[in-house]
Amino acid sequence: MKAIVYGGPGRKSWTDVPDPTIQNPGDAIVKVDTTTICGTDLHILKGDVPAVREGRVLGHEGVGTVTEVGQSVTSLRPGDRVIISCIKSCGHCANCKSGLYSHCLGEEGASGIGWVFGHLIDGTQAEYVRVPYAENSLHLLPAGVTDEQAVMLSDILPTGFEIGVQYGRVKPGDTVAVIGAGPVGLAAIATAGLYGAAAIIAVDLDANRLEKSREFGATHVIASGDADWKEQLLALTDGQGVDVAIEAVGIPDTFSMCTEIVRPGGNVANVGVHGKPVQLHLEDLWIRNINISMGLVNANTTAMLLKLVAQKKLPAEKFATHHFRFNEFMDAYDTFARAAETNALKVVITA
Ligand SMILES: [Zn+2]
Ligand SMILES: [Zn+2]
Repeated sequence: MKAIVYGGPGRKSWTDVPDPTIQNPGDAIVKVDTTTICGTDLHILKGDVPAVREGRVLGHEGVGTVTEVGQSVTSLRPGDRVIISCIKSCGHCANCKSGLYSHCLGEEGASGIGWVFGHLIDGTQAEYVRVPYAENSLHLLPAGVTDEQAVMLSDILPTGFEIGVQYGRVKPGDTVAVIGAGPVGLAAIATAGLYGAAAIIAVDLDANRLEKSREFGATHVIASGDADWKEQLLALTDGQGVDVAIEAVGIPDTFSMCTEIVRPGGNVANVGVHGKPVQLHLEDLWIRNINISMGLVNANTTAMLLKLVAQKKLPAEKFATHHFRFNEFMDAYDTFARAAETNALKVVITA
């Protein structure tokens, strides 16, 4: 089969590799029908994730069709359409039993690490993928949900919702600011209303992304390049700041912005993946009773979010801005890597 193979920092190719085979009784082989590229894949290609070895098939998001199942798999059959969750879950370890799939203790990839696809085991940017713990790591797709909608449930929608909205403790009536209106920030914007946010403020440098954020439910937008961005934002509150500030970029500046705009007693939910240390001004924050949260997605809300997509309560298809076929995979990477020029949010790549 063909797959996107990591060749060390800066190197990748769409090339021939052996077809995956069943290795454990709980495995399934899935023919990938639709996949996408994540910011994390670009981090890997920069060499920021040294655990990814040369020869690894990249990708952790995908939708496909089951072609083969291991002996112990009873709830899936060849022909089933499925969402591949970005997080493995064995379903029976102590962490899985408490919903902390991001730290599944199953041996696959590495015990204690839930994100294994395109990281510690071969991933989804391929014609076929082996899915461990298939009964827990795959979600059956109802007929009315398209591949393009479903692929947004592999990672970005659960990540924005769980790590932004749930960890940020959004509650009815809240004013929520989301710093960074990329795919995951937009996912937080799209799901903040589920917990009753009254106002959702998108903050970004990019005018196109700000405009796009309105389609996902932002009630206000602020250009963070404006010298008075903070005054504009505070003017949308009672002057005290927002109830919840969600960081969805992953750089020190945007984290600091969140701590500057959150009201006393409020929550800062960090969703961005940081590559550098951040200065935490505890000397200022302690007296303001601020909660700070962060994490890797558990993907334990995927089934719930899928129901909302199926009922057209979440506009998952709107994340898809560019479409490619598998033989154009390298172009898809190029378009996604130049998102500032191409206005790409999610590039959808189909077999
Ligand atoms: Zn991802
Ligand atoms: Zn587990």
